[in-house]
Amino acid sequence: MTNTLTLRGGNCTGYIKNGQLIAEDSNGCFRRILLRAKGVEEAIDGRTENVFHLGHLSEELFEQDKLQGITYEKEKHVEHPITDKVKFSGHSDYVGERVYELKSATSYNTYKKVFTKGTPKISNVVQLCTYMLALEIPEGSLCYTSYTDVLDYKDMGGYTKEQVTSYANASIRETKFFTVTIDDDGGFELDGNSLDFNVDNLLQFQRTAADVLENEYIYPDRPASLETTMFNACTFCKLKPLCTDWETERFETTTFVSRAKQILGETK
Ligand code: SF4
Repeated sequence: MTNTLTLRGGNCTGYIKNGQLIAEDSNGCFRRILLRAKGVEEAIDGRTENVFHLGHLSEELFEQDKLQGITYEKEKHVEHPITDKVKFSGHSDYVGERVYELKSATSYNTYKKVFTKGTPKISNVVQLCTYMLALEIPEGSLCYTSYTDVLDYKDMGGYTKEQVTSYANASIRETKFFTVTIDDDGGFELDGNSLDFNVDNLLQFQRTAADVLENEYIYPDRPASLETTMFNACTFCKLKPLCTDWETERFETTTFVSRAKQILGETK
């Protein structure tokens, strides 16, 4: 493989339908994907570290509670070429007869959406579907564990690792599972109901991301949301003022990248 550029699995949270990029979080934004390839990313703060730590604890509990007696591979590396220059690369949480994607709920908003309304985050579903497609496994499980009974997302940045561990152990760890399947026509279903996107929509996302990476341009559209909610991919993105400026002035990619670097303050 001669691919020198990489589209990360963590960025495959969106799809393209009828020419429109749909992504519910900034991970799936092509502007963010280009910046990441250039080493310009958000600094890892205490909140992010604690979210990662909680994720590791969740994995241990998931293996003990749900994967007993099941043969699986953990953190399976998945890689395939998209074009001659760009490859997809990522790690799937667990792969057995089905693909598992694990998520922790720490915010009230996520709890309300997933546990009260019974609807997963579409970005999480798309990520699972991307791995199912790459691994050619037609069934997957999206598994959420809630820690909202003991943890408060707004305080996550202030907890020590030890506190996160003891809170996680004290939690009742409510869980919610969703089943995702690929049908014979390349459509995806969530618990037996058709989803808005299909295999072609995911592949189009990957091909367009590869084009952005190869040709280094600022993708003209912001990600659209599937639902009308208070939040969209841009809501919490620190680059909103920069994107507004770019949409008015259309300056060079190099200027966009250097200004993003100043805002995010991190280059790897
Ligand atoms: S503000 Fe800009 S960079 Fe951030 S998600 Fe929206 S379009 Fe992407």
